[in-house]
Amino acid sequence: MSTTSVSKINGIDHAIPHYGFELADYETIASRCNDITYLTDVIGRLESVGVIEEIKAKGRPTKVRKIQLLLEENKYLQTTLWGSTALQVDEDFYEKNTSPTIVIVTSTIVKTFRGEYNLSSTTATRVYINLKIPEVARVLDKLNNVTVSEVKELKIDRPPMIPDEELALRNRKTVAEIKKMEWKPETKEILITCLCKVNRIDNKFEWYYIGCLTCKTKVKLIGGSFWCERCKAEPKFSVPTYRIQIEVSDTIDSTTFIVFDKEGEQLTGKTAKELADMQDENLKDNVLPREMKAIVSNEYIFQLRLNDYNLKRGLENYTVSKIFEPHVSQEVQIQKETPANSEQNTEDEQTFTQHSSMSFSLPIEDVESDDDDMPIKLLCKRKRYT
Ligand SMILES: [Zn+2]
Repeated sequence: MSTTSVSKINGIDHAIPHYGFELADYETIASRCNDITYLTDVIGRLESVGVIEEIKAKGRPTKVRKIQLLLEENKYLQTTLWGSTALQVDEDFYEKNTSPTIVIVTSTIVKTFRGEYNLSSTTATRVYINLKIPEVARVLDKLNNVTVSEVKELKIDRPPMIPDEELALRNRKTVAEIKKMEWKPETKEILITCLCKVNRIDNKFEWYYIGCLTCKTKVKLIGGSFWCERCKAEPKFSVPTYRIQIEVSDTIDSTTFIVFDKEGEQLTGKTAKELADMQDENLKDNVLPREMKAIVSNEYIFQLRLNDYNLKRGLENYTVSKIFEPHVSQEVQIQKETPANSEQNTEDEQTFTQHSSMSFSLPIEDVESDDDDMPIKLLCKRKRYT
């Protein structure tokens, strides 16, 4: 990793601060995947800029913009700029700038999406465009003979944003209806919602497993060290990861739901690691943490992802893909019950049902994990001067 420190260049604005970047190369970026203890600075040629979108992250509307960089290793890297960071690149940047643009984005965290690495901004992120420093000149020169260099608009392939209030009502089924659902050859997976009460947490298989931090797959212990079958490697980090088996029921029938990591965090308000660490102190195996017992007898709207396993093989253990508080859909329901709106809303309902399996196949959380606007206090930048 190279470290560039720039003291002073004649002829430029003195208001520009003293830069100290730790620009990560592609290999370094790859090695930091999902490792939030590093903040990563990156340099690349700006290839495309997306429009500013407004999405919901952790229940709040948040601005987001994607940019695509070409790194000097000739690899493309998408970077997601969140919140006010999104505004650091002008709206019509790709229209105004036709010459090669070298961008430095600082203090990002490395994630994966659809098997590709991408960067996500933090509250500390700054975007620097065409800085007059040697590192920029070097990258510009290096990428000079690599294809076209005009900054383009980044086209974003994203399904329309659906508010929680609507999602929580979509494709609503009772437990009995879920159990009776049948598999059709054209079905890959179906998303449905279901209002249920948590009756019991089944701790037969424990409420967490040790997972690879990169892919969340359960790691195996082979010859005294961990192994991730999915990454085909010894995981760099392995952490307690939720797999909570809950017995639920509606007014008529009962079944079993499986809650994984992110939704587990939502239910307990703590990460699996936090709870596992706390539990070690009391050291009572197979005892459920208090935070987890607290969800028993609560009602939630569960969104379930039904797949071959459930539909074709008729097995229960439905995977929970989202959890909503029951009140989230109440307002909408009340509105729908008022006569003035009833006709319009019936139409809406039908449209939802028609499109449900299609537009649902890519919920927003898969496109964007929503822990991106991570408070800076959770992150510490490890400086390494070599
Ligand atoms: Zn893995």
